[in-house]
Amino acid sequence: MIEPIGLNQKMLEVRALADGKGFSSDPARIWEMLALIHTEVSEATDAYKKGESFDHVGEELIDAIIRILHLCSALDLDAEALFEAKMSRNWERPYKYNTVRGG
Ligand SMILES: [Mg+2]
Repeated sequence: MIEPIGLNQKMLEVRALADGKGFSSDPARIWEMLALIHTEVSEATDAYKKGESFDHVGEELIDAIIRILHLCSALDLDAEALFEAKMSRNWERPYKYNTVRGG
């Protein structure tokens, strides 16, 4: 049972929307769902490149988050626990970890 707190609340909300609007969360769609996350990031990139408003860029980024949370739900992941664990690990890393160029 995934505790409905933090990021899990949003994941459950996204799942309810996906179910309510007829979008499958079947494991057979995992590859498709991964690809669709890329499309939303590409849409954000394109909007930024074309000088569109930051609100529009942000809307596409939120689309990506929605698709990521839908995939997390389809994989039956505890998004909140994973987020907290990963953030803790990242805070323990050194300044500009794994960065030689850019970043
Ligand atoms: Mg979009």
